[in-house]
Amino acid sequence: MKILLLGKDGQVGWELQRSLAPLGELVALDRNAIDGLCGDLSDLDALRATISQVKPDIIVNAGAYTAVDKAESETELADCVNHQASQVMAEEAASLSAWLVHYSTDYVFSGQGSTPWRESDAVAPVNYYGTSKLAGERAITASGCKHLIFRTSWVYGARGNNFAKTMLRLAKDRETLSVIADQVGAPTGADLIADVTALAIQQVLQRPELSGLYHLASSGEVSWHGYASHVIGFAQANGEQLAVTAINPIETAAYPTPARRPLNSRLNTQKLRDNFSLHLPDWQSGVTRMLREVLNK
Ligand code: NDP
Repeated sequence: MKILLLGKDGQVGWELQRSLAPLGELVALDRNAIDGLCGDLSDLDALRATISQVKPDIIVNAGAYTAVDKAESETELADCVNHQASQVMAEEAASLSAWLVHYSTDYVFSGQGSTPWRESDAVAPVNYYGTSKLAGERAITASGCKHLIFRTSWVYGARGNNFAKTMLRLAKDRETLSVIADQVGAPTGADLIADVTALAIQQVLQRPELSGLYHLASSGEVSWHGYASHVIGFAQANGEQLAVTAINPIETAAYPTPARRPLNSRLNTQKLRDNFSLHLPDWQSGVTRMLREVLNK
């Protein structure tokens, strides 16, 4: 079996390089050309030619334009990478009878209310990133290719930058931090997403009727403020020298950004857990593991 992984060096892409490796021959690309193959999701002709040349049984797309605020002004590029490139992958997957595995976001929802979103709930993105990701989902569904789309939220990885590392860095120098307390979701590890992806791929190859859209996030919920408090509490309890003495909760309205953020990022993951007989651990266990890794504890 041949797997083409796009966006190999992002948070999720990096972990997929590990989790997909035992499933088959892995061709992993980033935006740079290598051996005549091109994984640049803004070069649609080259992307199409690359897929035709590799002829994968499974395309896994971890590449995305994820700069939420910048997407408000770089709409053409965000649409190309998040929507049009997904459409090219879906068309090529359909013509090869290949599977397409793709990731999307809770930002397709309005963020209203406090009920965890189900796959069947009405979508209404409040920013351009969410709009472009939704267009990508729709292109995949409309293509008729066999697919798994995982909507996830608040992704972190031990590698690269993430919210927890930013909080730790700020807490070293500042006595007071102000963190948003009215956006609620579930921090979800890139490692968990990658492991669930590999397990789900194994199952859909035997049961193609499981093709579809799934919500994939850690269990439980927390605000950014609660998340920051957990991270800093762990670091202090484990001997890190931090200057911070107060973590103040603030409202989203007090922290204006170019892109609006949904307040309710909760995802209902029952469909994924039931269809694939999977357990999704609580967010604290994954975050604690990541902290132990980055703090070397
Ligand atoms: P990252 O931003 O860590 O990774 C995205 C990857 O896409 C990067 O390696 C980036 O490369 C690559 N990329 C961007 N533009 C292009 C391009 N033109 N051609 C090729 N590659 C490109 O994102 P995550 O791993 O966190 O996200 C994985 C998926 O999960 C995405 O679909 C995202 O929309 C979704 N998601 C992410 C959330 C999050 O909190 N991060 C929340 C919800 C969903 P480079 O570094 O060179 O730009």
